[in-house]
Amino acid sequence: MKTAISCWLVLCVALTVNAHAQILPPHQSSNPWYQDARQALAQKPNLQANSKAKNVILFIGDGMGVSTITAARILEGQNKGHAGEENQLSFEAFPFTGLSKTYNVNAQTPDSAGTMTAIISGVKTDAGVIGIDENVRRGNCQTVAGHELVTTLDLAELAGMATGFVTTTRVTHATPAALYAKSPERNWEDNSDLPETAIAAGCSDIAAQLIDYERRLKKHYPKAKHIDGIEVVMGGGRRHFLPSLPEFNSPDAASDIEGDRNDERHLINEWQQRYPDGAYVYDKAGFDLIEPSSAQQVLALFNESHMHYEADRHNDQAGEPSLSEMTTKALAILKQREEGFFLMVEAGRIDHAHHAGNAFNALNDTIELSNAVKQAIAHTDPAETLIVVTADHSHVFTMAGYPKRGNPILGKVVNVGEIGPAKAADGKPYTTLAYANGLGFRHHHDETDADTAYAEPAKSGRTNLTDIDTEQAGYHQEALVPLSAETHGGEDVAVYATGPGAEGVLGVNEQNLIFHVINQAAQLERRAIATMQ
Ligand SMILES: [Zn+2]
Repeated sequence: MKTAISCWLVLCVALTVNAHAQILPPHQSSNPWYQDARQALAQKPNLQANSKAKNVILFIGDGMGVSTITAARILEGQNKGHAGEENQLSFEAFPFTGLSKTYNVNAQTPDSAGTMTAIISGVKTDAGVIGIDENVRRGNCQTVAGHELVTTLDLAELAGMATGFVTTTRVTHATPAALYAKSPERNWEDNSDLPETAIAAGCSDIAAQLIDYERRLKKHYPKAKHIDGIEVVMGGGRRHFLPSLPEFNSPDAASDIEGDRNDERHLINEWQQRYPDGAYVYDKAGFDLIEPSSAQQVLALFNESHMHYEADRHNDQAGEPSLSEMTTKALAILKQREEGFFLMVEAGRIDHAHHAGNAFNALNDTIELSNAVKQAIAHTDPAETLIVVTADHSHVFTMAGYPKRGNPILGKVVNVGEIGPAKAADGKPYTTLAYANGLGFRHHHDETDADTAYAEPAKSGRTNLTDIDTEQAGYHQEALVPLSAETHGGEDVAVYATGPGAEGVLGVNEQNLIFHVINQAAQLERRAIATMQ
C-alpha cells in the first residue's frame, strides 16, 4: 500500500512539474514566493495527497480580522437572545483552521490588492497592485509586461469549470479585480482613471478587462478548448461600465450622470452582444427572475458604486439582494456544470464599515457572510467541495476589558459584579469596542449607512458617553489617533477550511499558500492541461 501511494505521489509530482512548464508563465512558477509556499504545503505532515475537490468556494471577509469575528459571533448570539460568547458563526465549525501572514512585499500592514493577488495567484506582491508580481512599479504601465500572474480563476476557466464571483463592493474593486485583471494600479477601474501615458503604453482599465476577459484568456492560451468566460458576476459598480452621459443612466440611477467612462464604450451593451443568452440585471426584481437552470451567463450590477451595507439594504432604490441570496443563486447556476465550479464570494463592506469607524455595520456584514457560508454548506456536497473562508487583512479594531459575560457587545463596559458602566481614569464610561485610529466618535442615532461618518473631520479625544446609546446603528466608536479613515491592521488573520484538501490551511502560513491549497485540492493545473491535449 505504501509503495502504491508513493508511486502515485511520484506521478503526481511529475505531473505538477509538467503543469508548471505548460500553464503558468516561468516568472510565476519560479517566483520565490510561489516556490516557498508550494514547498511549505508539500511538507505539511497531515496532507491527504489523494483528496480531490471538484468544486472550490473561496469566501473573503474583507478586513475581517479575528477581533471582528469574535465580536460578530457575540452579536449574533446576543441577537438570538443568548449571552453571546458561546455562539459560533457558521464557518467556525469547520474542521481546519490556520493563520495567514498578510503583509505585502513592500508593506508591513497590507492593502486588499496585494493580499488578494497573493491568495489568488500564489505570489505576494506590492500594495495597490492587481495580478502582477513585485517587479512592477505601481501605476507604471511600462513595467507590467512579463510580470502578469495567472490566478485560480484563470486556471478554473482553462479547465472548463464554471466560474463566478459575487461581492458587495464594485465588481472592479481590488478584491474581485485580482481574480481576473492585471493592473499596476488598483484605482484604474475605468478608462477615465488611467493617465494618458498608461493608455498609450497599452494598459486597459479593470472594467474593460472584465468584459474582455474571455477574449484575452483565449489569446494567451490558444490551445485551450473550453474557455467560455465567467458565468456569474454580481456586485456593484455600474459607473465604470457606462459612458458618462445621462442617456446611459440605469432606470434607478442615483446620480445625474451615472457613468464615468469617456471612451464611448458601453461595456454592459458589449457584454450583452458577447453573451446573447446571458442575463444582465440591475435590481432585485431582475435578480429574482433569473432562472438558474437556463441562465448561461449572469452580469448583475446593482449599484452605481458599492452595494449597501446589509443593515442599510432596505434603503436601496430599486432593491438589491443580500450576500447570501447572491451566493445561493450563483451556486444554483454554477452547479449546472458537470466539470465543477470555482466561486469567490466577498463580503467587501466589512472593511468599509471599519474604515468609517462603525462597528455596527462591520459586525452585521460579518454575520451576513456567515449566512452566505451557511448557504454554501447547504447547497454543496462536502465530499467534493473545498470551502475556504478567510480575510485579506485585519483592522485596528479592539475589544477591551473587562465587560462581564453577556454584556452587550456594542455597549459600554460593565465590569464583572457591577450594574452601571465602568469609568475610565477621566471619569467617563467607555465602550468594549474601539479603534486605535480613524475618524473617531460620531453619534448618528439609527443611521444605517456608516459612510455618513466622512461628512465631519476626524475627532480625537474622549466624549462623555453617559447619555449615548452606543448600540445604535449610527454610533461610531472612539479612536485614539485621528485619521481621515481608520486603517487596516497588520496582524495575522484566520483561515477556516472544510472539504477535500482543507487540512492544507493548518499552521501559520504565508497568505500566498492559500493559492496552493486550492490548486492542489482541485488539481486546477492538471485539469487545465488536460483540456489542451
Ligand atoms: Zn480597506
